[in-house]
Amino acid sequence: MKDTKVYILDGGTLVIDGFHVYWNRGPAGEVRFPVYSVLIDHADGLYLFDTGYDYDHVMAVLPFEKPQQTKEQTIQGAIEKAGYRTQDINYVINSHYHFDHCGGNKHLKEACTVCHAAEFGQCKCPQPFEILGYSDMSFHPDMLREKAKREGKDLPPDPEMDVWTPKVELLTGQQEIAKGLHLIETPGHTAGHYSLLVELSGRKPMLFTADAAYTRKGFDEEIISSFHLDPVAAVQSIRKLKDIALKHEAEIFVSHDLEQFGTYKTAPAHYS
Ligand SMILES: [Zn+2]
Repeated sequence: MKDTKVYILDGGTLVIDGFHVYWNRGPAGEVRFPVYSVLIDHADGLYLFDTGYDYDHVMAVLPFEKPQQTKEQTIQGAIEKAGYRTQDINYVINSHYHFDHCGGNKHLKEACTVCHAAEFGQCKCPQPFEILGYSDMSFHPDMLREKAKREGKDLPPDPEMDVWTPKVELLTGQQEIAKGLHLIETPGHTAGHYSLLVELSGRKPMLFTADAAYTRKGFDEEIISSFHLDPVAAVQSIRKLKDIALKHEAEIFVSHDLEQFGTYKTAPAHYS
């Protein structure tokens, strides 16, 4: 069986306040943070864990997050930089449906998309404080249209979107979706959040927390972000990831930490 390869795809950066990164702890002030996706070349196919944000969406809906994204940092540009083609990706796994984790899904129409069943339900009827997080519904045109209808908006016809309904596979519980690829339930940040553990032949396992931990300091000190559905569950999820990291001697990859990101190997380099 061929060895699994892992590519970290740089998706550009955004800005939020320090009190959002470290809920009720801070310090306040602008924090620029990275957004990235993970491409896994596995014997069973090409998997993409998260798809980053869509620049136009952020500029239209959340311009205060000051997106910086080059063409190479769009999902298509980043996949190409890793040496692959967007249309060859077989599976898109969304850790959750916040706009900075699913903005590129619409460019991966051939892929089967995988997410937690609870997440799929929640993003359709979010709590008032989750509305901006779930503002980009382009990953599912039918849901996008329903949302526009609820909001009394008229969506102009879009030939790109109107012909497409994604193949969605909903999961619950811990799942080994392919040999050595484990989805770990880490709710709290959102209703149905998944982190990802990847076992590799030549190095220690990689544990991608996704938004269960934005930063290394948040992970170590169990400080969650202010964007969450259930803060107690979010802290429990960090503890669960700590246990798993210990048990598997895994290396932690947090989601939104510029300093940590600088130490990651990004595509075209890979881990194997
Ligand atoms: Zn999130």
